[in-house]
Amino acid sequence: MTAPRSTARHRTGRSGRVLLALGGNAIQRAHDHGTWREAVRQMRRTASALAAVATPDRELVVTHGNGPQVGSLLREAELGAGEVPAPPLYVLGAETQGQLGFLIAQELGGALRRARSDRSVVPIVSRMVVSARDPAFRSPSKPVGRFYSASEARKLHRTLGWTLREDRQRGGWRRLVPSPHPIRWLEGDAVRSMLNAGFGARCVFVVTGGGGIPVVRRRGRWEGVDAVIDKDLAAALVGRHLGVDTLAIVTDVPGAALGYGTDDLRWLGQVSLEELTRSWRRGEFEEGSMGPKVEAGLRFLRSGGRRFLITDIRSLPEALAGRAGTRVENGRPSVDYSH
Ligand code: ADP
Ligand code: MG
Repeated sequence: MTAPRSTARHRTGRSGRVLLALGGNAIQRAHDHGTWREAVRQMRRTASALAAVATPDRELVVTHGNGPQVGSLLREAELGAGEVPAPPLYVLGAETQGQLGFLIAQELGGALRRARSDRSVVPIVSRMVVSARDPAFRSPSKPVGRFYSASEARKLHRTLGWTLREDRQRGGWRRLVPSPHPIRWLEGDAVRSMLNAGFGARCVFVVTGGGGIPVVRRRGRWEGVDAVIDKDLAAALVGRHLGVDTLAIVTDVPGAALGYGTDDLRWLGQVSLEELTRSWRRGEFEEGSMGPKVEAGLRFLRSGGRRFLITDIRSLPEALAGRAGTRVENGRPSVDYSH
């Protein structure tokens, strides 16, 4: 394969290189049953919005969550355990990268062709290094899979050593797994080399799905570990590694808000890095949902990223144009609190 000629505009275009981090909702909506048909329909909508922003002056890289898909595979494994040995959790992570990489290739590939773009969608099975000494391994915090009764929970703890926590609101117990910090993306150098050689004009790479398959170094080898890496924190790392200009987190709300869940709700529009940092420290953004997105943005910007966006898929084109979503740019002040 020879590297495609990279036009000067492509290298230096004003829009530059953009990493889009798609949340679960871009793939499966809350009230969906989780069928493949639903996923295709939802991804088709998402894909047409993505194709609309794939302008010639913009390189796109996509990453995505995998929570609902891992949940289904865990349930499958549980039900089939009498007949087929259940794979480790990290293998389920690899399976979802394949499944969702395929889905994105199908739908985004189709949408790009319809938009007369000849870019190929190229999913990359991605491993993410974590530290075996990460404190997360001692205190699992990320809920995965279905809800269990109290007696099931006791049994699973006794027989499989799982950590489970009761969710009183939703009436049941859930398995908690460690959520260690991403340290290094093993396929990152290869993807960066391809982008820097101009492949961004021809390819949309789909990388580190579900935050990447967590691996640790043991006896001179990479070994998978049962953990779940936050996809937004992984996106911050990927964004910096690839030298992207903009990290855009696409979720099911139009941005980050102050006073979320209260009568005094204010959506954040263009906000300064300092202001967002202050709101984050005040605990405005819920742990496990908006919190890690804002944290990812702060990390990305503090390590040299230029622009961070939180938006829903519908407003993505407007958000990239600086007219919607929560927008933070290095060195730019807050402008307003409403959009
Ligand atoms: P994704 O699957 O896209 O990663 P999450 O469900 O993890 O999305 O996070 C998005 C959710 O965060 C929203 O649906 C919203 O309910 C919740 N949320 C919590 N705090 C805030 C906040 N301060 N502003 C906006 N959304 C918030
Ligand atoms: Mg989610």
